[in-house]
Amino acid sequence: MAQDPDCIFCKLANGEIPTSMVYEDDTVAAFEDANPQAPVHVLVVPKEHYANFVDGVPGDVLQAMEHGVAEVARIKGLDRGFRVIMNTGAAAGQTVMHLHMHVLGGMDMSEGMIP
Ligand code: AMP
Ligand code: ZN
Repeated sequence: MAQDPDCIFCKLANGEIPTSMVYEDDTVAAFEDANPQAPVHVLVVPKEHYANFVDGVPGDVLQAMEHGVAEVARIKGLDRGFRVIMNTGAAAGQTVMHLHMHVLGGMDMSEGMIP
């Protein structure tokens, strides 16, 4: 499985650095964001390294991420809804260059995309 030895999310997703794991399977890991922006803020990441959503991510990895998001929503009780955000590139505010989905919930959000 291709990983980047200098990437913090590779290490978190593959258990090299301990983290608050919410859900894990062979393909993805979901862990608590270190600086939560909502009552529930979990990151869903592939165990393999991809820079972002448009870095040639195979379909089976994307499907596994969708399953990971659904599992996080179930585990965290987000039955009223939640928001998924994928910052893609520096101008979008991506600071960790390992593909991740932010799952945000546990509060009512505005209808606007950008607060
Ligand atoms: P982004 O700005 O979309 O790249 O999001 C990166 C996210 O990773 C931010 O919400 C950070 O709070 C979070 N983060 C950075 N380092 C860690 C870490 N060691 N454990 C958990 N979350 C982290
Ligand atoms: Zn990585």
